[in-house]
Amino acid sequence: MRNHGTREGKHGPATQAVHAGQPEPRPGAPVVAPIVRSSTFHWAGPEDGIDLLYSRYGNNPNQESVAARVAALEGTDDALALASGMAAISMTLLAAAGQGDHIVASRHLYGATWALLSKEFPRRGITTTFVDPGDPGAWDQAVTPDTRVVLVELPTNPALRVFDIEPACRAARGVGAILAADVTFATPMNIRAAEHGVDAVIHSATKYLGGHSDLIAGVVAGSRGLIRRVAKMMKLYGGSIDPQTAWLLERGIRTLPARMERHNRSALALAEWFTGVPGVRRVIHPGLPDHPDHVLATRMLNGYGGMVSIVLDGGGAAADRFSAALRLAAPAPSLGGVETLVSQPRHTSHVDLSPSERDELGIPDGFVRISVGLEDVADLKADFSRAVAAATRPAAAVTA
Ligand SMILES: *Cc1c(COP(=O)(O)O)cnc(C)c1O
Repeated sequence: MRNHGTREGKHGPATQAVHAGQPEPRPGAPVVAPIVRSSTFHWAGPEDGIDLLYSRYGNNPNQESVAARVAALEGTDDALALASGMAAISMTLLAAAGQGDHIVASRHLYGATWALLSKEFPRRGITTTFVDPGDPGAWDQAVTPDTRVVLVELPTNPALRVFDIEPACRAARGVGAILAADVTFATPMNIRAAEHGVDAVIHSATKYLGGHSDLIAGVVAGSRGLIRRVAKMMKLYGGSIDPQTAWLLERGIRTLPARMERHNRSALALAEWFTGVPGVRRVIHPGLPDHPDHVLATRMLNGYGGMVSIVLDGGGAAADRFSAALRLAAPAPSLGGVETLVSQPRHTSHVDLSPSERDELGIPDGFVRISVGLEDVADLKADFSRAVAAATRPAAAVTA
């Protein structure tokens, strides 16, 4: 019997993050559950009265307990942990859509999700219509009787746009499709997506849920029926999470509420500070009043998140000098860890687009995405001050 927290509706999210999914305590039991490395478990036949346990099936104790913790945080009946965020996305979509089916997805998607939908799924007879999520009428126009999934992502990467989920939800309901949302950037602390009508709540747990840039994992949360179908795909395609990684992910989730509070606070403080730094042309953060989705983000989210994007004067060359001058923040293409990371989409997620295509998505050259970590904000400001100075005054020898 596992403690599911929200089922009883008794505990707040910080308590659930620490306790949900753990076995009921008994004298002598370890406070921290052990890692169960066994790939297989004693089982002679159905007369044993339990399900066959096998770690590819996702029913190893570590896999089950991290899933129960995620379900408690999301307020869903069930959840499943998988080997990566992309495993969570692809298995969810394949559980819902097959040959001849149709998907409607936001145009603002993580690069690999976009490639899966536009390049890979057509080979399997699954087509996708991409829509502008900022146009509330677009979802209704795009869905057809064959639509099985409507997919959104928020906040988006790297422009940090926040779109209303409601029109996408209504369109999905109208044709009997499921609504799936990749809310990696928001985490369950900043949005409980199921409460907004999302059927499949998906995270790259590699990012904030794990939180320490030391694992690759994904999760999906939803109804028992949906999770059973996703688990079936996972068993067949083999994208199960390793028990050791499941254990490490569960350890990360224990501190998620505390980390997100600080990520939210530090990112907002840095965003406000960047707006007064000469050489920074634009600062993009949903918590800033000039962000196009500020009002909606304030209404929908419990926090604006740990990401800040800036656009430097001087284009790509300035952004390269900025990255090279950093001593504390590190250039690396991930996010959500305790350490501050910066990346340029033109070198990473959006490398395949032309400069004008990137411009259209709100990612001009000179754009730098910052995943604000848990360091002291004063130290980050000092590091970024020096880097912006180096970016905007290339000729001068800039020292600390
Ligand atoms: C990183 C990321 C993914 C992919 O997750 P992996 O764990 O790398 O497979 C999907 N969606 C978003 C928004 C991400 O940031």
